[in-house]
Amino acid sequence: MSASSVPDCLIVGGGVIGLSLAYELANHGATVEVIDRGPIGREASWAGAGILPPANLATAIDPLDRLRALSHQLYREWSDRLREETGIDNGYRECGGLYLARSVGEVASLHAFAAMLRELEIEIERLSLAEVAEMEPALRELATGELEAAYSLPGEAQLRNPDHLRALALACGQLGVQIRSNCEATGFDYSNGRMTGVRTNTGSLHADRYCLASGAWTQQLLKQLGVTTGIMPIRGQMVLFKCDTPPFSRVLNEGPRYLVPRDDGRVLVGSTEEEAGFDKSTTEEAIDELAALARQLVPALRAAPIENSWAGLRPGSFDGFPYIGQMPGLDNAFAAAGHYRSGLHMSPGTAVVLRQLILGEEPAIDLTPFRVGRG
Ligand SMILES: Cc1cc2nc3c(=O)[nH]c(=O)nc-3n(C[C@H](O)[C@H](O)[C@H](O)COP(=O)(O)OP(=O)(O)OC[C@H]3O[C@@H](n4cnc5c(N)ncnc54)[C@H](O)[C@@H]3O)c2cc1C
Repeated sequence: MSASSVPDCLIVGGGVIGLSLAYELANHGATVEVIDRGPIGREASWAGAGILPPANLATAIDPLDRLRALSHQLYREWSDRLREETGIDNGYRECGGLYLARSVGEVASLHAFAAMLRELEIEIERLSLAEVAEMEPALRELATGELEAAYSLPGEAQLRNPDHLRALALACGQLGVQIRSNCEATGFDYSNGRMTGVRTNTGSLHADRYCLASGAWTQQLLKQLGVTTGIMPIRGQMVLFKCDTPPFSRVLNEGPRYLVPRDDGRVLVGSTEEEAGFDKSTTEEAIDELAALARQLVPALRAAPIENSWAGLRPGSFDGFPYIGQMPGLDNAFAAAGHYRSGLHMSPGTAVVLRQLILGEEPAIDLTPFRVGRG
């Protein structure tokens, strides 16, 4: 796009949002540079579970549902393309999901959730307890015991975040995107309503346009530009079990907790929602609680060893909406952050609408509800 030596766009943050935007921009002919203060893709995007619940663009009205649905529609295509371009399988699987309830409160919220999905014409099926045991024999004990209600969502999918990030980074590199790790943005230069440079620990960098995709750390950077958002870190802890073979095949959800079966027998269990500042440590209490939940639901996990545990910082926002758009008062600066629990899911859609905005096209989704500077 640009004939000058500076890139068309400099992206601050090499998580799934920054890399997806870089991939999308580069696929549309833009020259792009991505910087990250650490290694690429090792923060929230690496830590997440990779659950992609179903969505329906034809019926979605709520702006968040529309962004989710646009992304959902794109995921299969992006996964196929990334596999062709890089040889990396990102683990995208339409494995389906089961939603489980063991208490009166959970049953009520599950029925409400099912009604909402039916309104959106998303396939969801109420299961008898016998059907649960038949579909997932690993849940037989639960189905004849504490389980009160269950639904099946055949359209739920999953991906393996670290593989998806590796594929995105490699595909970006093949498209000529410059990726710099260990390069931290520390400040900004701007004049006459335009950003003119990003100061980093390795010197100033310049581009025609700039985008902050710095996850939970975005507000710290925006503060320097006098822009206020409600982005804050929300810690999520995870436990990884290792089984010889996958004990079940669908994502199991109960309230905000879930178990994700990987092809190789690993089972990921998450997650907590904690305000702990920028502290990424795990706590014994949370890990024990997640492990106990997993063992209650799936007896096969009682004998399985815990292989690993970790925590990541989700970029939360005060109203649950991400911030996607132009920065107030700066024509050539943009932000994309605050995707909270759904940043992996919403990344392709975010990349597409922001690419459209940055390249001067009409975004496929109205971005007003996501405007930067609210809050
Ligand atoms: C435990 C857990 C489970 C989750 N499960 C799911 C799930 O199942 N499905 C789903 O869709 N989402 C899930 N999420 C949420 C999802 O992971 C996030 O919403 C998403 O990863 C956010 O992506 P990001 O690129 O904005 O942030 P990040 O991945 O955090 O990337 C931001 C990047 O910016 C860099 N950075 C920060 N400051 C600077 C600076 N000053 N200069 C340069 N670089 C900087 C960081 O180093 C980082 O690499 C989960 C999150 C967690 C923690």
